[in-house]
Amino acid sequence: MGSLLLLTDLRRQLLLARQKSDFVSNVSHELKTPLTSIRMFSELLAEDRVEDLEKRKSYLRIISTETARLTRLINNILDFARMEKGEKKYYFEPCDLGKIARGAVASYRPQFEAHGFHFEEKIPAESHNVKGDCDALAQVILNLLSNAEKYSADKKEVTVELKQRDGSIELSVLDRGLGVPAASSEKIFEQFYRAHDSLSSGIQGSGLGLTLARQIARAHGGDVTYEPRPGGGSIFTLKLPS
Ligand code: ADP
Repeated sequence: MGSLLLLTDLRRQLLLARQKSDFVSNVSHELKTPLTSIRMFSELLAEDRVEDLEKRKSYLRIISTETARLTRLINNILDFARMEKGEKKYYFEPCDLGKIARGAVASYRPQFEAHGFHFEEKIPAESHNVKGDCDALAQVILNLLSNAEKYSADKKEVTVELKQRDGSIELSVLDRGLGVPAASSEKIFEQFYRAHDSLSSGIQGSGLGLTLARQIARAHGGDVTYEPRPGGGSIFTLKLPS
């Protein structure tokens, strides 16, 4: 019995060690890619050899979306470290989830447009009040939007939908992408877990986005859930008590 426990613990330790080393290499890749393109496009602009105004604008747009990507990644890592240490603080105040969602969508829209997505926003104009940390809630929505983009493959269609139900408000991000294998549909919320690893899928990630999204939602008395989308793709829903 004792040796079985030891073996189980050893397995757990080994798994954790592997997850950590995968995480470090995943994050290094995720940092490197935007930094490389920021450096390349800013050098091109600095050399003053790009005369076409539209080209200059598109390079600047790339620099700005890649900077936003870096900021998201770094915020996720810092928040994750804070949560691990039990130091993550939330500042609860009245928030309008519709307004937060529109803001997140507006800041993400250039990214969708640059990559040829058909994007639909179904957010009713009236206010949807919740008590929460508005920045943290925006971070949840941005993580879901970023995943919808990353895991969409060729079917580039994303919809954001806000619905009021009895006693709750639901914000769903729907895509027509790769979906999540049934066996991984809960594991994807575990830290560092990636159902589509970088080697086979070519999609980079740190495996923290959904862990954080769920922790933030639960700290608000809500949750983030996944369900397969009829006809293919994923539906991720942020549910909050209203
Ligand atoms: P990552 O940095 O790997 O994207 P996340 O924690 O955000 O980390 O997501 C965990 C895993 O869940 C991803 O690696 C991917 O396998 C899966 N996943 C997340 N969002 C989607 C989506 N919209 N479609 C398909 N799979 C997804």
